[in-house]
Amino acid sequence: MTARRIIVIGTGYVGLTTGACLASLGHTVVCADTDRAKVDRLRNGQVDILEPGLAELVADGTSAGRLAWATTAAAALGSFPQRAEIVILCVPTPMGSGGQADLSILEAAVEQLREALPPECVVVTKSTVPVGTADRLTQLLQRQDVSVVSNPEFLREGTAVRDFLHPDRIVVGSASQDAAELVAALYSRLDAPTVLTDAPSAELIKYAANCFLAVKLSYVNAVAELCDRVGADIVDVTEGLGHDSRIGRKFLSPGPGWGGSCLPKDTSALLQLADSADFEFRLVRAAIDTNIRQHKRMVDKIREAVTGSRTGSLSRVKLALLGLTFKAGTDDLRDSPALAVASLLRQAGAELVAFDPAVPPSDNRAGGLQLAVANDAYQAANGADAIVVLTEWPEFRRLDWRRLAASVRTPAVIDTRNLLDPSTIAKAGFSWTGLGRPTSNTSPEPHGATLPAFEPSWAPADTQGPENHVLTGSTPASH
Ligand code: NAD
Repeated sequence: MTARRIIVIGTGYVGLTTGACLASLGHTVVCADTDRAKVDRLRNGQVDILEPGLAELVADGTSAGRLAWATTAAAALGSFPQRAEIVILCVPTPMGSGGQADLSILEAAVEQLREALPPECVVVTKSTVPVGTADRLTQLLQRQDVSVVSNPEFLREGTAVRDFLHPDRIVVGSASQDAAELVAALYSRLDAPTVLTDAPSAELIKYAANCFLAVKLSYVNAVAELCDRVGADIVDVTEGLGHDSRIGRKFLSPGPGWGGSCLPKDTSALLQLADSADFEFRLVRAAIDTNIRQHKRMVDKIREAVTGSRTGSLSRVKLALLGLTFKAGTDDLRDSPALAVASLLRQAGAELVAFDPAVPPSDNRAGGLQLAVANDAYQAANGADAIVVLTEWPEFRRLDWRRLAASVRTPAVIDTRNLLDPSTIAKAGFSWTGLGRPTSNTSPEPHGATLPAFEPSWAPADTQGPENHVLTGSTPASH
């Protein structure tokens, strides 16, 4: 493998993982980010995202002299004694106001590169971008000697390093065969099939993959609803489905709705792309609609479990929420379905106290969530009318459920991830309501609120009008 000199622009989940992993493969990498505080922390060896193995790779790359940091692309380009060969763009491409991918950050970054790029440099988009972006960047660059390559990234948060180093496939697309091969060769030490194609196809592969996953999740959520209505068990149904190799076992667990920093914006962007091509992509539209409905369905389930009626009031009902992040294993709150459900619960008048292993009360994002964040699950559950599992953190299974039963006002669990073992929960004295599964109702005597309740720190509940109940959050904008 030929070691290359690479600039990575953006050091978020994708950029930092890309920089650290490429350095671990033997390349020399300078990562640039406009967030000075983040760059300072990285210079001090501090990685502030939760990604197993990433801090170690950053430390290894830095001490080997193969990984360095800069606050501007120009500074990064200037820090190589010899010219940089490849610039990889890993900046956000958030959802624009019309639902399309907003490329303004990406385009601004490219404008800054136009003059600064060394001769024959290859510009790579790893950010998720709509079909036509490579052509657009080529026009913006106005550089005959510079080729643009699409190299979409498929890593998942929480397993980013493992996914980068053990990908299912590598996709590289460009109008320039030489540039595409140069980029594909960066990964030659990895054991993965490489799809070499044109740029529009590479760009579409990323959206088509994410939208497929969204459709699959909405499908399984709809099947779980059908299970509820006809008395089937989704666990057995998905077991039977998953053994079919044409379907596969992954992405077959029902939940409170899909979310995170990618699926919502990418489904929306594909709809816009299809629209601009005069194609109504109804399947993806249906997946999005099913997902929005799923959040409401979770509230209905909670309402019914707590009040015994589909129309009961949740006003002043105290709910302990277990989980805030969009999935387990990450600290990312962007477009988290847990927050979407929490927002609806607040609008219905419920009082919320949450616990998430990756969001301590001291987390500066917690202050903007308009719910109280507890130090642990026991504190969150104190005096609660029900416990609602919203994120599939495995440690929730290992909680002392008897202790929890002794501290809640009403021993009811609504498990929107089907995470817990219903019989363990029932033995601890709780009723358990899952998705697409029979409710296990032990009808234990309510324990009564004997312990002092944990008081939310943000405001007394009765000052919260419905208009204040929306989780505006200090969560980063979805993208
Ligand atoms: P992120 O928000 O975690 O990180 C983006 C980083 O870019 C931030 O550190 C920000 O400060 C920096 N930045 C913004 N403008 C900049 C500029 N002009 N110059 C330098 N740095 C700049 O974003 P992310 O989750 O890493 O996503 C980046 C792209 O990768 C998006 O297009 C996303 O859709 C795509 N993607 C994300 C994932 C994922 O799981 N997060 C997976 C695959 C693809």
